[in-house]
Amino acid sequence: MENIVLLGATGSVGSSVLDVIGSYPGRFRLIGASCFKNLNRMSEIINEFAPLYVSLPDNNPEFEKNHPSVYFMNGDDGINEMVALSDVDTVVVAIAGIAGLSPLLSAVESGKRILSANKEAIVAAGAVIDKILVEHKNFIIPLDSEHNAIFNQLIRMDKDSVENIVLTASGGPFRDKPIDENVTVEDVLQHPTWDMGQYITVNSATMMNKGFEVIEAHYLFNISYDKIRVLIHPQSLVHGIIETIDGNRYMSASACDMRYPVASAMFFPEVQKTKLPKLDLAGISLDFVEPDNDKFPLLALAYETGMAGGIMPAVLNAANEIVVEKFLAGFVRFYQIPGIIRYIIDKFENVSNPCLEEILIADKKARIHALELISLS
Ligand code: MG
Repeated sequence: MENIVLLGATGSVGSSVLDVIGSYPGRFRLIGASCFKNLNRMSEIINEFAPLYVSLPDNNPEFEKNHPSVYFMNGDDGINEMVALSDVDTVVVAIAGIAGLSPLLSAVESGKRILSANKEAIVAAGAVIDKILVEHKNFIIPLDSEHNAIFNQLIRMDKDSVENIVLTASGGPFRDKPIDENVTVEDVLQHPTWDMGQYITVNSATMMNKGFEVIEAHYLFNISYDKIRVLIHPQSLVHGIIETIDGNRYMSASACDMRYPVASAMFFPEVQKTKLPKLDLAGISLDFVEPDNDKFPLLALAYETGMAGGIMPAVLNAANEIVVEKFLAGFVRFYQIPGIIRYIIDKFENVSNPCLEEILIADKKARIHALELISLS
């Protein structure tokens, strides 16, 4: 039996993880869970999975009273403490945002098996995380569909045979539509293929999400940026491709449902029979085109900041988080998002080989810059 702590249990990746845990009761057990805001859903999860530990952002005596069998923990310290408990085998980081960084490091340091869907921590602090992973002889099993696809193929290959890795992108709701000043929040939240949280859906519409995935791939797979390609693939069935030096292209496909990469990561290195419906490729056509960098400047900006390294990816991540939050709240127009982010990035002087503290300071400063800039406009 594998004891799982699920961070971000009430989110969309969290629900795919719970689905897999619920389907294999003899194999996985939810021992701990955390959530950010959705206490109603957390109540349901406690009733269904009976975790021993639950971590909430703040203490909540009323909620805790309703669940007397649970040991509650609170805040950042609570979540880090829960992750490091000795009866925890595996930590699944399904929290979005930089909030995933501290528990991810706690999981690495306490030697847990780690599955992560959190992009922001790796984007902001990839070099620091990689260093700590090496020190602890640990690694991250990626949950994101593209990285999971690449991970599963890469571990079966000689790295010298790899010419490029390709991350596919659906292209989002504006693949074939113009981005102008009339675009509304509602237009942006209509994702053509994936059903995800609001923040990531906006990032998918700007292609910032793919940009973050490029930076994430660089750190997860220790591969240089010139070997990471992005291709638009509207069907979202092929998630990752490895191009080898002999001219072969190894594609990895599954239906557009997070439960496939989640199940694959949870059972890794085993390949387990699942009850999920199998993708039948008969009659399906697959298209791939180059992304339009003029229309989606944030993708190019991600390569640029990624190659610059230092604190710049952290600045990009933080600026984007604030600008998107303000877009969702109606203070920023969709077409303005890339320009504002570029403006903030240009305000920063890079720091090479930053320590964690310097990264967190850059993150804070970028947020303050973004908030000031938006409140002035
Ligand atoms: Mg993805």
